This record gives sequence, structure tokens and C-alpha cells, in this order.
Amino acid sequence: MSDFVKKRLNKKRRVLIVDDEEINRLLLQNILAQDYDVMLASNGEEALEIIHRENGKISLILLDLMMPVMDGFDFFEILKKDPDYGKIPVIVLTSDKEAEVKSLNLGVADFIPKPYDVPEVILVRIARTIQLFEDKNIIKATQFDDRTGLFNSEYFYEYSTFFDEFNANDSKDVIAVNVNRFHVINAMEGRAFGDQVLSCIAKGIKAYLEHAEGLACRHHADLFYLYLKSGDHEQALYESIVSALSGILEDAAGRIRIGVYKNADDSLEFGKKMDYALLACNSINGDYNRQIAYYDETIIKKEQYEEKLIHDLDRALEQHQFVVYFQPKYEILGEEPTLCSAEALIRWNHPELGMISPGVFIPLFENNGLISKVDRYVWKVAALQVARWRDTFGKIIPVSVNVSRVDMLSRGLTEEMKGIVKDAGIDADVFHLEVTESAYTDSQSDLIERVAGLRDAGFAIEMDDFGTGYSSLNMLTSLPFDILKLDMVFVRKIHTDEKALRLVGFILDIAKFLNVKVIAEGVENKEQYELLKSLGCDAIQGYYFSKPVPAEEFAKFI
Ligand code: C2E
Ligand code: CA
Ligand code: CA
Repeated sequence: MSDFVKKRLNKKRRVLIVDDEEINRLLLQNILAQDYDVMLASNGEEALEIIHRENGKISLILLDLMMPVMDGFDFFEILKKDPDYGKIPVIVLTSDKEAEVKSLNLGVADFIPKPYDVPEVILVRIARTIQLFEDKNIIKATQFDDRTGLFNSEYFYEYSTFFDEFNANDSKDVIAVNVNRFHVINAMEGRAFGDQVLSCIAKGIKAYLEHAEGLACRHHADLFYLYLKSGDHEQALYESIVSALSGILEDAAGRIRIGVYKNADDSLEFGKKMDYALLACNSINGDYNRQIAYYDETIIKKEQYEEKLIHDLDRALEQHQFVVYFQPKYEILGEEPTLCSAEALIRWNHPELGMISPGVFIPLFENNGLISKVDRYVWKVAALQVARWRDTFGKIIPVSVNVSRVDMLSRGLTEEMKGIVKDAGIDADVFHLEVTESAYTDSQSDLIERVAGLRDAGFAIEMDDFGTGYSSLNMLTSLPFDILKLDMVFVRKIHTDEKALRLVGFILDIAKFLNVKVIAEGVENKEQYELLKSLGCDAIQGYYFSKPVPAEEFAKFI
């Protein structure tokens, strides 16, 4: 049991006595004073005032029924309806048998008959009522997370308020702990191993808590929180976790990221404080060189910037602030490279913020699902562009569009895509869909079925960012796709690193075996181009030929 839990159990509870007769108040106060902090009110109205003033931090109310101004029944009725304070237990003080029955029926916890009994009896009744009520609240949350033995999130919330009460004068830090690419650990090493990783993290956290005042929970999955008296926690906490993990993970040091919200603002709701720690934590997601981040100005600014983008999205779509650029793809197997298609890539020409790259807003909109609106806009523009080039140049230039995993959740996707190409007056087979490899590997079979459905409807499927998503060979043979887009990380080093070159050769062999074509992305120079050509890569896309350009400019390639 942590220190503050022990303290909490020993803490003096606060009891509010509501009675209009002074002599009764004094009598009870005398009996209770040793064990409780006592507050006094002489009618219902005064009692409500006190409860609000104290934010409901009262363990029990002793209530007389007959009082001037506001009597006990009226008071109880108002109290019970209050969402915050309605749960404070009430014991009625009365000499009237009938009133006793009536009040018990209304839901008071117990009654104490007047004139007052021996003090011991009263004390026992009071203690029992408080205990019952508190136990009920705490048992409600099944306390601990099975896997790690840390508090679960409900209990963590519940106890954070006690922690605040006991340390009202201290500032506190909220810390979020998360694992980089935990899903990959699960996918590659199995869930049992993933569970072991979580236990080790919890072990590291518990070891740290032995020297710090506060509490911790596993919130869900691989997300942990700590709530501590402010101090220099983060480095030592990080080291404690890494040391617990290093027995089972080689790269433990780069696996953990920690977000800190220091000196949390008291006026914020607890959940909000946790959000801030998580924001800090996620700000270094994917950055293997940074393990600790703080909630500060830059994060606040980023959050405000993102909020603005979300807020402005609908108007931007209406006002055509989004511009679709096209980047050519060239077939390179023949003598001369020949234009074979184009990828549609979106930009946001924001009236105040200027040109915003998709790297900024796409991940944001993917997280909140708004990406579907953006994608649909791009698909329509791209389909119409194929028709326009055909009508202008008499040539069909197939276009590929990006389909994010959120779009894949939509049941009517195939029908919708068919509608888009039909409205544009083009065939499905010149409309290619790029689905990122990790969407296949992270998702369940219904995504794969949906992609297969699109493919059956005639759309060509390109597996985007290949090499970053951990498909196994075994999986690859059963996934529906026509073209493999080799991620640029492989291309980048191909002319300087022998291993990278061999790896690309190997991937090309697999593609041949699977009978799919390969496009290499991010080709920037002649050496890369020639190496890829000599290895038998079908097509390339990259700055070597052209950056993405507006549709009018693209005409020069046709
Ligand atoms: P992606 O689908 O992998 O697209 C390729 C990205 O690589 C593009 O960045 C492109 O401009 C860039 N690129 C192309 N050739 C080279 C090169 O030779 N060197 C380098 N360094 N980069 C090159 P962009 O346009 O900034 O788009 C970034 C990402 O945003 C895209 O990655 C894609 O995931 C996403 N995206 C763009 N447009 C859309 C869209 O309409 N819908 C969705 N869902 N995602 C989009
Ligand atoms: Ca793409
Ligand atoms: Ca890509």
C-alpha cells in the first residue's frame, strides 16, 4: 500500500452537523470532536452553502428534520438531485418514529434517535456509514490492472482526488509513459512477449515510486500515467524503466518515451492534465533520439495550430483552397524512360498560413477521421484530371490516389469509387489506389477483403511505402495488390550502401515471384536511377524526373 493510501485511511473525516438547536449541535460536536473534523449549520440553506464552499469534501451529514428556513426534507431532496454532492451519505437525527420511516424511504443512510444515546453507539453508527459508503465507491472500480499490478485508470482517477486533498499545498507533475511501436513488438514477437514488456515497464515504475510520492496506473494498452508531487522525476524514472526492460529488450533505451506536464494547473480537470502529458509524450513519437518531452509553449502552439486547421477544414474544401499536384511516374525498362502514370498529392493553400504540406495536416486528419473528406475531394479532382488530359492530349495517363486506412473502414467504398470514375467518364483500371503497407499489416481481415473488393471492381492497387509495414513473406502471397511501391528509405542509400542495394535486389526478386510490378519512390539522382534500372525495377518516381507539380504544369510531360 502506498503512503498516501495509508494516510488516507488514517485521515480525519469531515462531518457536517445540521440542527437548529444549539444545544443539540454542541452535544454532538462534543461526541465527535476527537475523531472527526466537525462543521456546523443551523438549517438546510446554511448546510448547502457549506457543502458548495467545501466542494463537497464532506464524508457525512448529520441532519435534523425540523428546522426553520429550510427543513431537513427539503434539504435532502435538493442534495440528492445534485450530480456532484448527491452521493454524500446522510444520517437523520430525529425523535419522531414516523419521520424516521419516511426519511429512510427517501434514501437516507441511517438514523440516530433523539435524545442521544451513549456516545459509543453514535460513533459506531457514524463510522460504519462512512466506511460502507467509501468502500462502495472504491470497490466499484476494480482497483488493479491484472497484467501489471498497477492501478487501473478508474482507480487512478479516484485516488488522484485523494492525493490532491492530502497534498493540497504542493504542486504536482503528471507523466505519461508510452512504448514506441508497441504494436510491432506484438506483431513480431507475439502478445505474450508484449505482455512481458508491459510487466517490465510496470516494474520499473514501481521501483521508482518507492522513492517518490505519488501513484501510477496502466491506462490502457501500452500507456501508463504517473501523478507525483513535483520534482525532478523524469530522468530517473526513465532510467528505472529502461533498466527493468533491458533484460528482455535490446533496444530498451530507444523504446520508451515520456511526456511530462510539470506543475499542473490546479484549476484543470484531472483528465485534461493527463491529456497534456500525453500530448508531450506523443510529440516525440517516432523520434528515436528523444525520450523525454515537456508540455510547453511549442506544444501549446502546435495544438493551437492544429485546432485551427481542423476548424478551417470545411471552409477550405468549399473554397477550393486545396490544390492537387501530380508527380510523374516513369517506366524505365525500355531504352528511354516513358511516362506511365502520375500520383495525385494534395497541398493546402491556406489564406493566412500559406502553403501547407500534407506531411503536416494528413497525419492530423488521419487521427481524427477528417481525412475521409480530404481524400474524397482529391479522388474527384484526380479522376476528372484523367478525363481532361485525355480530352486535351488524346492520351490516357493513369492517376494514382492515396487511400488512407480510415477510408477503408467505409462499407460503401467500392460503390463510391465506382461512382467517382463513372462521373468522370473514365475506366476503373486507369484509376490506381495507393494503400499503405502498414494498413494491411495492422488491420484485420475485413480491410483485406475490402481491398480485394476494390480490385475485383477493376481498380489497380498499389501497395504504398513497402518495406515499412512488416508484412511477412507468407502474408505477401495472399494480399491483394498489383504494384509494389518501394519506400524511399531503401532507395536513398542504394548507391552508397552495398547492403541497401542487395536488399532492393532481393525485394525485386520477391516481386517477380509474386508477379507484381515495382515502382521505386524518392529517386533523386542518376546513380540511383541506373542502379534500379539494372536491377530490373519497372518504374520510378522522384525528384530525378520531377517534383509534384500543378496539373497545368504537368502537361509538359505528356
Ligand atoms: P507518399 O504517398 O509516400 O508520397 C510520396 C511523397 O514523397 C510526397 O510527399 C512526394 O512529394 C515525396 N517525394 C517524391 N519524390 C521524392 C524525392 O525524390 N525525394 C524526396 N525527398 N521526396 C520525394 P508529399 O507530397 O509531401 O506527401 C507526403 C505524404 O502525405 C504522402 O506520402 C502521403 O502519405 C500523404 N498524402 C499526400 N496527399 C495525400 C492525399 O490526398 N490523401 C492522403 N490520404 N494522403 C496524402
Ligand atoms: Ca502515396
Ligand atoms: Ca509512399
